[in-house]
Amino acid sequence: MHPFNFPQPELDETLHSLLIRAHRLSGFSNFRTFTEAILGRPSDGRGWSWRYKKVGRYLDSCKITAWAILQGTLLLPYLMPFMSPEAARLGQNRLDGGHLTGDDGVLPAWHINNSRPLRYCPLCARQQQKRLGISVWLRSHQLDGVNVCWRHAVSLVDVTQHRISPLLPHEFPNQTIRYEFNKFDLWLAKQTRVLLQTSHGPTSSEIIKTTYRAQAARLGYKKTPSIDYFLIASHLLKRFDRRFIERIFGSSDIERVTKMVHRTITASTIGIRPTNHILCIEVLFGEQHNFFLAIRKHTDKDSVEEKKTPEDQRNQLATTLIHKKIFLEVLATHRREVMSELNRNFPLTHQWIVTHALHWSRRRLSNASLN
Ligand SMILES: [Zn+2]
Repeated sequence: MHPFNFPQPELDETLHSLLIRAHRLSGFSNFRTFTEAILGRPSDGRGWSWRYKKVGRYLDSCKITAWAILQGTLLLPYLMPFMSPEAARLGQNRLDGGHLTGDDGVLPAWHINNSRPLRYCPLCARQQQKRLGISVWLRSHQLDGVNVCWRHAVSLVDVTQHRISPLLPHEFPNQTIRYEFNKFDLWLAKQTRVLLQTSHGPTSSEIIKTTYRAQAARLGYKKTPSIDYFLIASHLLKRFDRRFIERIFGSSDIERVTKMVHRTITASTIGIRPTNHILCIEVLFGEQHNFFLAIRKHTDKDSVEEKKTPEDQRNQLATTLIHKKIFLEVLATHRREVMSELNRNFPLTHQWIVTHALHWSRRRLSNASLN
């Protein structure tokens, strides 16, 4: 029996990258047979529906934690905000091995965001190699339309991955660091990363449509009785440059852009593609945060915006200290089983760690196993 030895994923590391690293720690010489042994069929962790949840048991014996860690290596959280709750449920089922998909544009969106070739930033690779001895593939570099590193403003290098013995970024010959100063490309790299990291839940297309239309009407994009999509498209063409719009929408022709804006705002099937939303959100809401706040208001009409008082902040700090203290105590006695033990005996702390301090807890765990 070959050992399946999974390292802790680095922040923003893809499942593909994690599988490569685990493969190298295993006794398998072939990457495909290695993934077949874990997932039931060969997969490089970049396709759709290859029972990814099976990887969970190697990440943590506690199911909830394992799922949260696995989720952090997938691009699903990036697609989720524009998926309907039904489509999101089907998406989760596919990760469990289910084969049903709805007709909600999930599959095309998944394929677009798992497109080959793979991309890496040579400067990120160099820094990781210095810190970890190897480099890893990052999720935020693989998002649709991203061609520059959000951290370094360095052009991403496109490569075709090897199938039998896949490589890590620093092992490819091209390590040329070329700075990219196009402000729109850099803007998109940062915006897509924010969307990926914020992990919003799914929203029905009806709510998305209502939210966009209410804001467009408020801003005066009105052509009775409807919304003036042509005017929004003209605004979009002024906000960004032609080359950038062509790259994202495939054309900068005003009719075509109007059609894309209409499809995005009315949340029709193509509407799941997050880059389209990111651009429309920019011209209508200024910031993603404002858009998602409006979505929440439309989802729950009775919700009032929370205002944090200094007392709330003090309470929050106290909560953080208490949960972290409990975690560290259980870690000292239970080591690798810390999350299973918390789940059994300190469910509140368990839930708090999974939601607020997952990465922190994994760092503590790897430090503890080193000592
Ligand atoms: Zn970088």
